Amino acid sequence: MLATHGLAMNAVRLARVPEIIQGAGALEALGATLAAYVPPGSALLLVADPGLRASGLIESAAAALRGGGYSALLCDDVQSDPTMAQADAAAAMARRERVAGVVAIGGGSAMDVGKTTAAVALADRPASYYGLCAQPFPAKRLVSVCLPTTSGTGSEATRTAVLAAQDHSKVWLWGDELKPSLIVLDPALTTGLPASLTAATGIDALVHAIEASTNANAHAANDVFCHEAIRLVARHLIRAVEAPADLQARAGMQRAATLAGIGIDNCGTAIAHNIGHALASLRPPRLRWARRAKRRACQPRLSGCCAAAASRSRSPGRAMIIFAQRNWRCRWRDPRMRRCAARTAARSPMPTCWPLPRSS
Ligand SMILES: [Zn+2]
Repeated sequence: MLATHGLAMNAVRLARVPEIIQGAGALEALGATLAAYVPPGSALLLVADPGLRASGLIESAAAALRGGGYSALLCDDVQSDPTMAQADAAAAMARRERVAGVVAIGGGSAMDVGKTTAAVALADRPASYYGLCAQPFPAKRLVSVCLPTTSGTGSEATRTAVLAAQDHSKVWLWGDELKPSLIVLDPALTTGLPASLTAATGIDALVHAIEASTNANAHAANDVFCHEAIRLVARHLIRAVEAPADLQARAGMQRAATLAGIGIDNCGTAIAHNIGHALASLRPPRLRWARRAKRRACQPRLSGCCAAAASRSRSPGRAMIIFAQRNWRCRWRDPRMRRCAARTAARSPMPTCWPLPRSS
């Protein structure tokens, strides 16, 4: 608490938000946009989701970079559930080719690898050296740019990355150095996302916004981002699922995901993600049970039920919040999940939020 002019004032903290450029055609303009960050003529490392190869998006991104006078080196073998080893390989390539920046295009996996690569490439330590805040990141880092092709993880706006260690457990990396220098949101990048993934990632964004605005750290300054994200999801998610080529709906969901990402970057997540993180950090042989439980915990038939609740209610955002809170309470009663989450919290320096949402 701060005392100001005799008044008690709650201290709030808002973290740095990277520059955000949004609009159809933002991908084609990428080369020109980057001139403010990296001198033309430099080499850039393009870290891409291999699932984008068939869509032509990787080639479009490379062409945009070449159009701006950059040479583009490609690292496009990032799998879902990316590993520390992948970030190390990309960082080694960045050092060898003396690149000036990393451009990550894809979902959360590609962005997490790209962000980590940019943060660690100018030192010679492996990414695992910085895991769980064991060591601070190097003071100098490469320019880092994120172009999300899904609208959900919000990774483009956060100072976190999750990479699998050698034993397959997921390890968090955390630090402002991971946050990109620039976020480029082109809604056309998300029109190829199948309906099921559009729904699932959209619900992820919604839950980020709900959790960040209802957990113990929540404050009014951050609610601005979260509430707008909830409003955008309520307005655009169903349309984005039903009409994948609708650029307005796609742009709405893209903005929602990034705003929700800013929300969790400021105030963290809550029960649904704590359970998910706890289960994901388990190592085999308990992995199969963990995956099954995580699926049940984190996607409790939310998409269909939320959509139904929202369409019945005059206040779709509020209907979604109430629905999600009821689900969390119900899942949270499972003692196995409580134990898993508590273990992870005990060994992680990550700021996590345990209490149940404040209002019902
Ligand atoms: Zn999430």
